[in-house]
Order: sequence, then C-alpha cells, then structure tokens
Amino acid sequence: MSKGEWLKTIGNAMLDLVYPPGLYCISCGKITDDSRTYRLCNECMQSMNWITARHCEKCGRPLADTDPGALCFGCSRREVSGPPFSFDKGHACAGYGAVEQSVIFAFKYGGYADIGDIMGEILYDRMISEYGRDELASMYDLVLPIPSHRDRRLRRGFDHAALMAEGFAKRAGLQFDPGMIVRTRATVPMKGLGPHERLLNIKGAFSLKNSRSSLAEGARILLIDDIFTTGATVDEAAGLLKEHGASRVDFLAFAGGADIIAG
Ligand SMILES: [Zn+2]
Ligand SMILES: [Zn+2]
Repeated sequence: MSKGEWLKTIGNAMLDLVYPPGLYCISCGKITDDSRTYRLCNECMQSMNWITARHCEKCGRPLADTDPGALCFGCSRREVSGPPFSFDKGHACAGYGAVEQSVIFAFKYGGYADIGDIMGEILYDRMISEYGRDELASMYDLVLPIPSHRDRRLRRGFDHAALMAEGFAKRAGLQFDPGMIVRTRATVPMKGLGPHERLLNIKGAFSLKNSRSSLAEGARILLIDDIFTTGATVDEAAGLLKEHGASRVDFLAFAGGADIIAG
C-alpha cells in the first residue's frame, strides 16, 4: 500500500467514526437513514429515471418518444446493417441521468463499497418486477460480473461489478462466480471514444479462467455491470462466453442510456 493509499484508508476509518456508514443518501450525500428504500433521500428517489415505461426489447435502455418501434435507435440500426449483438437480451434499472451518475461515482470513485449491495438489491427488484421470484431463480445457471482490470481494482480496493453481482445473486438464489471472466489487459476509459474506437479498445480484453471455462458450455448466463452505453464491453464478454458454448447470455445493468461518462 502506498503512503497515499494508507493515509486515505486511515482518513476513511476516521470518517466512519464521526459519520457512521449507512446514514447518507447514496446519491447526493445528504443525511438520511438506512430505513429508506435503497438509502436514497426523497428527492433523489423521485429524480431517479426508474425504467417503468417503454424500453428497448433488445438492450433494455429507455425508449425516447421519438423511437417508433420496440427497439432503440442503436438496436434497430444493428438489425439492418449488423453485426448482430452477441448478447441475447439486456435489462437496465434506470435511464442514465444525474442521480444515477452520482450513485455510480460515489460507489466507484468515492470508495463507498457498501453501495454495491444496495445496487444489487436494485438489480434484483428490477428483475423480479418483470419475471417474479420463482422464474428468476430458474432463469440462469451463472451470474458473472464484468471484471475491472487488476490495476483499477487495486486502486479502488474492490471490484465494483462483483459487489453488485454478489448482492444480486444472493437475493435471487443464483450461482455467482466473480473470477470466471478475467480482464487480460487494461483499456482506456470509454469516455470520449466513438463507437468504433470503443470496439477496438475492448476487443480481446477478456478471457475465461482456464479451470472454469468448461462451465460456460450450455450455460444460461447473466452478466452484471454498472452502466450500459454503446454495449461494446458487455458484447465482447458475451461473445467470448458464446464461443465457449454458453446457450444464452443476458445482461443486467444499473443504468442504461446516452453516454455522459463511461467506465
Ligand atoms: Zn439524495
Ligand atoms: Zn436497444
């Protein structure tokens, strides 16, 4: 641990003494209490872009009023000009706006690892609202997080998607494996890259752990990530799993939509 990281750890430990965890809104940081749903204050709860209405049948992102059919602009364009996505179906809990961005920032960059479990609960509620508990429990053989690169994980002290996936899988009663997909190289942040550059950036960035790659054969898999924008990252992982024989690969993201930032 570097001196800077050590000081940060001590600093956080002292903050925890003064401000016990679980008292703050996970988006705006205002004092609230942990009896609140998802630990969001009233204002943030109401400002979340919860996906309750029309969303894309393929990728799950919210549809704009100007989207005429069942698919978003990106998915309908792919239908026509390809290449098809490797994943089968996507789900998102909320459209990606300011409140969603704050939650993701507090979790990933603010060091509040406990937000991962709350996001797991949000993911779970999203899925049972569509499928119900029993159907969800029998839908997938494996829940896998999209892994961060080791360097980023070490900097943050945790793998954010793994915490979300664990929180989701334990509620759903599904098998969770945080180590099956491995990030083999660091990628530059997707922010600021165009769609084609994103594809190149992520191409070949994942592999399956040798000892577990046979588990993909015939498996129905649910991938978990914090945000879905162009779909390049999740599709790269889905393609790899399909190459190893996965029969179905869906994904579930906390937020989906237009790109403000991306990780
Ligand atoms: Zn708030
Ligand atoms: Zn779509």
